[in-house]
Amino acid sequence: MYVDSHCHLTFEGLAERIDDVREAMAAAHVDRALAICTTLEEFEQVHALAMAYDNFWCSVGVHPDNEDVREPTLDDLLALAARPRVVAIGETGLDYFRLNGRSVAAMAGHRERFRVHIRAGRGCGKPLVIHTRSASADTLAILREEGVQGAAPHARGVFHCFTETAEVARAALDLGFYISFSGIVTFRNAEDLRDVARFVPLDRMLIETDSPYLAPVPHRGKTNQPAYVADVGVALARLRGIEPNALAAATSANFEHLFKVPAT
Ligand SMILES: [Zn+2]
Ligand SMILES: [Zn+2]
Repeated sequence: MYVDSHCHLTFEGLAERIDDVREAMAAAHVDRALAICTTLEEFEQVHALAMAYDNFWCSVGVHPDNEDVREPTLDDLLALAARPRVVAIGETGLDYFRLNGRSVAAMAGHRERFRVHIRAGRGCGKPLVIHTRSASADTLAILREEGVQGAAPHARGVFHCFTETAEVARAALDLGFYISFSGIVTFRNAEDLRDVARFVPLDRMLIETDSPYLAPVPHRGKTNQPAYVADVGVALARLRGIEPNALAAATSANFEHLFKVPAT
């Protein structure tokens, strides 16, 4: 059984057909999913899914790309993180890919938002779901400045939809984070990322869809959905030379450990 550790079930393409999404999951041996929150405005809808279905959990956080949304305070995040079935803070992080003409220096508000999430994670003891794009140096530096470092007995969180170098993966692992791979590892031009996926230890690896985006091969062009995390798992197993069942068992155990979710 596979787990989709990162999906956007409230987004168009999935929200309006949750029953189908769940049937497809069952058919593909995907037994659980973590529904990710990207705005405070969206939280109640994400949380309702986690409350309605015993194999869904959720996060609370505001995505770095989201502007013109309610800015979360530490108290906002802590209050919502205390709700049942909220197992993570995020997604949060830094994204310098979409600067829209601004300088990196002008993104101070994004960095401050990230710091608020890190403090919330520390405050409630829940792991961070980190989004980093074209911003790995600042992402790692801010985590260290906020005191997220040293040998972590239990994980600090996950770098989701990983597309960075092996060097960045090493730094994230050293800080106590897991690394999550999405359907991007199946893309034809992703040989460098496949090398990173061969390098990350199996006991620190998660899998995800980031659906409804980034459908893996052989579903390119379709709306992505949690069921397709099985294709991500099979691709990773193949490139590491292990059985898909072994990959599924390891990444599911990692999910349970990181998010403190009971084993099935
Ligand atoms: Zn993301
Ligand atoms: Zn996401």
